[in-house]
Amino acid sequence: MSLENYLKQLISQRHADSLYRSCKTHEGAQQPVLRHNQRNYLAFCSNDYLGLASDPRLQQAFGDSMQHFGIGSGAAHLVAGHTTAHQQLEQALAEFTGRERALLFSTGYMANVGTITALMGRQDAIFADRLNHASLVDGALLSRAQVRRYAHNDMEALERLLTQSKATHKLIVSDGVFSMDGDVAPLPELVALAEKYDAWLMIDDAHGFGVLGEKGQGIEAHFQLPVGSVPILVGTLGKAFGTFGAFVAGSEILIEALIQTARSYIYTTALPPSLAATTCAALKIAQTETWRREQLQNLIQHFRAGAATLNIPLLPSDTPIQGVLLGNAAHALQASQLLAERGLLVTAIRPPTVPQHTARLRITFSALHEISHVDQLLAGLSEVLPLVRKKSR
Ligand SMILES: *Cc1c(COP(=O)(O)O)cnc(C)c1O
Repeated sequence: MSLENYLKQLISQRHADSLYRSCKTHEGAQQPVLRHNQRNYLAFCSNDYLGLASDPRLQQAFGDSMQHFGIGSGAAHLVAGHTTAHQQLEQALAEFTGRERALLFSTGYMANVGTITALMGRQDAIFADRLNHASLVDGALLSRAQVRRYAHNDMEALERLLTQSKATHKLIVSDGVFSMDGDVAPLPELVALAEKYDAWLMIDDAHGFGVLGEKGQGIEAHFQLPVGSVPILVGTLGKAFGTFGAFVAGSEILIEALIQTARSYIYTTALPPSLAATTCAALKIAQTETWRREQLQNLIQHFRAGAATLNIPLLPSDTPIQGVLLGNAAHALQASQLLAERGLLVTAIRPPTVPQHTARLRITFSALHEISHVDQLLAGLSEVLPLVRKKSR
């Protein structure tokens, strides 16, 4: 078969399965109202939980630091790409997480792939939640370690796998807040099992940082666990902090080892320095402006109470990620399209991002949303969901 024909077949199969994906191009900054095709939409799709992606103070900081540092970093960290801005951000992240050190990566995907492959090899075993983010899955596969997946948040299943394992090193890996479900990993149990079975623990708190805990310190603070309970802690900067990039926080020796061995740290260009400087400013705002987390809680409670009275099938979640479970990919896609016709942007999440038969609408809130926005969303959902369900009969 020619390449051309193979690709045509691949694309048409995606269409047939309601799994075809495409970008929605919008014309301005990330904010609750997005402009797309000459029309305004109220959007519930971004991970800009604190509403910092278009904050004027951060725009100012970005401009100022760009005047000083120029645009690109020009090289990898270990070559000539590491500036005082990167250094200051790594220090700020170490302080923020209460760790000895933090290491910047260019993206969360790269932080996860680089960290897992640096730590694990053929003789080792990785214990992973079934709903972990794709970057954790890919890191595990690339490491060539044995991968054992346990049912979502099922600590008994995890313990059974740990009991059976004879691997040299064991690594338990989990999302902190699950990116497509919004529920939180049972961290106290994970910490206890890691200790009991002499396993290492890695948590990817991409959606917890900035959102959970009084000052946004993430999942450890959420459970009031001692700072440092998670030895390998990953965070991203493109979500609640509103900028771009990611980090791993941990002990001095962990970070030293990653610098020596994490290939996605070594063999790639460092973040633009002005982004690092801007993220330092974002980190301060994220910690001090507690009203942003309070507003998120107001929105979440209002939405869940409204959805309950309207019989909207929500997944269990107390975070700004709220899922409406529809099951069938075509239904999720159709619901998303019908909402768009009503000026509401909500993403349909389909396999392979989520398991088969669990397609859903993924709603996310930002601190810049207002209660009236949530009311518009609820009205839209209550109109659209019966139409989708009717068609399925
Ligand atoms: C978004 C996300 C990532 C990837 O982070 P990027 O910086 O966007 O590459 C990793 N893990 C989880 C859980 C995420 O949600």
